[in-house]
Amino acid sequence: MSKTTENHTPRLRPSPRTRWYKFGAFRCSGPECTKRMPAGYYGIAKKLYLCSGTCSTRYYCNRREPVACTFCGKSFRRQHTQRSMPFCSMDHYYKWRRKQTDEEKSGAYAPVLQEYLEAVIPRFLAAATFNQVRCNLSAFFHYLRLRRIRSLNTVTPKTISGFLTELQTRRIKSAGRVTGNVRLFFDWLIFTGKRRLPNPVIPKFHTSVTITRLPRPYESNEMEDIRTLAEQSGDLRLCLAIAIGEESGLRISEICNLRLQDIDLEKYRLFVRLPNKTNRERFASFHTRTRTLMIRWLSERADVGHDFLFTGWRERPLRKHSLRILTNRALCGEGKLISFSYHRLRHTAASKVYPAMDPLSVMHTFGWESQKVMQNYTRLLPQTARESYARAMDKVEVTSVVNESQPESIEAYFASRTSPK
Ligand SMILES: [Zn+2]
Ligand SMILES: [Zn+2]
Repeated sequence: MSKTTENHTPRLRPSPRTRWYKFGAFRCSGPECTKRMPAGYYGIAKKLYLCSGTCSTRYYCNRREPVACTFCGKSFRRQHTQRSMPFCSMDHYYKWRRKQTDEEKSGAYAPVLQEYLEAVIPRFLAAATFNQVRCNLSAFFHYLRLRRIRSLNTVTPKTISGFLTELQTRRIKSAGRVTGNVRLFFDWLIFTGKRRLPNPVIPKFHTSVTITRLPRPYESNEMEDIRTLAEQSGDLRLCLAIAIGEESGLRISEICNLRLQDIDLEKYRLFVRLPNKTNRERFASFHTRTRTLMIRWLSERADVGHDFLFTGWRERPLRKHSLRILTNRALCGEGKLISFSYHRLRHTAASKVYPAMDPLSVMHTFGWESQKVMQNYTRLLPQTARESYARAMDKVEVTSVVNESQPESIEAYFASRTSPK
């Protein structure tokens, strides 16, 4: 659609319907723009002068009728022409959508869910798990609604068992976590006086044996392939992110949260800042591969308006979802890997250093609180176990031999030194 009266480049050839105007005869009518219009032939009937496409968009957006935000009711002018429901910000759209899904799944329980999330979650859990709790509790409320249970006071241990059995058919791995969430929710109900009966979640009966899977580090030839594919993509960010993953074992969210000042090239370490999964700050070491790539990336990194290490779309900080999409695009597909998991790099890093590094330092570097969690990540190779067994055995043998030849007294010692064996 052309707007003939708005054309911001004047004609250079005269015509009966145009007139010559010198430079600066008019100023741009765009909001907050006072640029002078260039010289040239402008239409006689022309009344509106806009210096650029940006000014034109701003001018017409400002003339629209204000609409009310669907979430907060604030009056604002739309900045686009889509016929969608009006929202004053993306944040309000997300909040509104969340409310919708809450109501869809939780129905009459939606207000209590909202109250619980606001009162409890920030105190006990990291912000990153907020939506997980919302989703788990919504599943529970959905079950209650299907069973026509209208009050939380009538929930019995049997109800919980039924819910968990049903959940097992859809989400085999998450039953334990969901049970924990539901239990904390009922604790809160009792604490606030909303429920008079004891907690219907009974850990002895409602928690199942957790399945512990073996650590899944990448083998060295797989790592070789991953590195080659990342290099072929030509994206230095990916190469560096993978190097940090395999050497420092950072979680994908922690990588995206790295700032320029967190990188210490002299001490070969990264500062892992909050918020992270366990809400615990730490220093993670890195090695030569990360260092080399880091220096290359820092010299290439464009000057942008933020201090995050990685920059994504439109000069904004790179988020974990985007990084995941980028790595999958570069590493998976035809003739490439079948799948790629960034988290497996954490397993790889931990398995690389574990037998040689003492457990306490490993836990400190990777941010684990117990040795039990560490064991889920580190793999003791059969060969390593065999070697350390042999070493221990040899040590015992040597000590016992030494013990045998130990002289009983100082005289015997001198006697043993002088007498030939
Ligand atoms: Zn302008
Ligand atoms: Zn709003």
